[in-house]
Amino acid sequence: MGAHQEKKPSEERKHKSTQNDTRTSQGQWGRAWEVDWFSLASILFLLMFAPLIVYYFIMSCDQYQCSLIDPLIDLLTGNKHLSDIWNKTPTLTYKAAAIYALWVAFQVVLYLFIPDFCHRFLPGYVGGVQEGAVTPAGVVNQYEINGLQAWIITHVLWFANAYYFHWFSPTVIFDNWIPLLWCANILGYAVSTFAMIKGYFFPTNAKDCKFTGNFFYDYMMGIEFNPRIGKWFDFKLFFNGRPGIVAWTLINLSYAAKQQELYGQVTNSMILVNVLQGIYVLDFFWNEAWYLKTIDICHDHFGWYLGWGDCVWLPYLYTLQGLYLVYHPVQLGTANAIGILMLGLIGYYIFRMTNHQKDLFRRTNGNCKIWGKKPEYIECSYMSVDGTKYYSKLMTSGFWGWARHFNYTGDLMGSLAYCLACGFEHILPYFYIVYMTILLTHRCIRDEHRCFSKYGKDWKRYTAAVPYRLIPGIF
Ligand code: NDP
Repeated sequence: MGAHQEKKPSEERKHKSTQNDTRTSQGQWGRAWEVDWFSLASILFLLMFAPLIVYYFIMSCDQYQCSLIDPLIDLLTGNKHLSDIWNKTPTLTYKAAAIYALWVAFQVVLYLFIPDFCHRFLPGYVGGVQEGAVTPAGVVNQYEINGLQAWIITHVLWFANAYYFHWFSPTVIFDNWIPLLWCANILGYAVSTFAMIKGYFFPTNAKDCKFTGNFFYDYMMGIEFNPRIGKWFDFKLFFNGRPGIVAWTLINLSYAAKQQELYGQVTNSMILVNVLQGIYVLDFFWNEAWYLKTIDICHDHFGWYLGWGDCVWLPYLYTLQGLYLVYHPVQLGTANAIGILMLGLIGYYIFRMTNHQKDLFRRTNGNCKIWGKKPEYIECSYMSVDGTKYYSKLMTSGFWGWARHFNYTGDLMGSLAYCLACGFEHILPYFYIVYMTILLTHRCIRDEHRCFSKYGKDWKRYTAAVPYRLIPGIF
């Protein structure tokens, strides 16, 4: 599918509002201005425990064969002390620091200095300079979309090394996994702290900054909407997509190589995880221009949640299935393997088609066909901070007529498939589906809260027309 722009603000029907009784509720999208106690408590919890959760998962694989219970039993029975576990944990090494620095620098070079050439020869692919959505301050940023190219170059080099040059072992990521965790944390904290300081002292666009007055909330959820260095280095696009998502498939390949080294074969479950997650990653880069219109870019400010999350949480916890399969090589029966593959592919199809339907609908301003018919929709309006009124449409047919976030439902089906590939012996690989269910349900509620702030009573008309969020008839 080709990802394209929604209509640009200049192309939207807009006018200064003179009599707008919903002014206070509209034009204020983006993250919250005020912090409630529940949000603050959740944020403090995550700031304190998210790094520990990541460490716990990775350590339990390293020291306890991926059992999440055994470390607790050891600690509770006094069989081991925290210091015993900590002392057995690999420390930061020069080698890992060099690998990580080289990795991030390489991705920066690919992002900043190699303009996209893929869109010149790949039919339907949208790359090169593209515009993002209008921000609350009415700004439209330009982005160099070259993620697919970065992914291809990185993977071509990876395979060239593995099969021809042999500069380093393809198991290098697995072999340095914990030392690399410390490097990822250093970068994650450094970039989040830098983003906070930048928001106060030299923001890219002061009107798109939000200060709640609460240090922890601002640190976590970010102050600046689209922090940049120079014209092109966009923090959100870079950290969201690379190095984390480019690394995702390399990490899985490294796990497969480790299985080969340890057991002399790669199991079908490992191949399934590599293939299904590979499709998801490739889809992300094929649709990177579309990604400019997702919540991450359109609504979230850049703070620890995105900065640290992209550096640490994503590469370490989204790849748990592959890591687990290194310790527990599962060979699935043919029927199970086919069933899991089908679940993954159907989930991916729903995820992609739902996103595609919205993209097509918005790009053509509703002048398109969804399932062979003209789409049905609700007209709505919203306002930017300068009082300019914009018009938009919310589709109520196709998958968007089934539920308000059926794309999340497809995503969850795919996520479940990765986990099922690991069998039922341990709960660790199921972390992903539990996490994605919480993330996407919370995201759904967060998005709807924002959409209500943005569209006001028009959003209510929409929710009356499409009453379910994720599963028609149930939720
Ligand atoms: P969506 O792509 O669903 O975008 C939500 C936005 O779409 C709303 O804010 C609104 O924006 C617009 N919209 C809502 N309803 C309609 C409608 N009926 N018609 C037209 N436009 C509508 O959400 P995300 O950005 O969260 O997700 C994008 C994809 O990324 C999803 O498929 C999700 O599964 C995936 N994802 C994956 C994650 C992962 O970690 N693997 C994490 C997060 C997302 P507007 O203001 O323009 O009206």
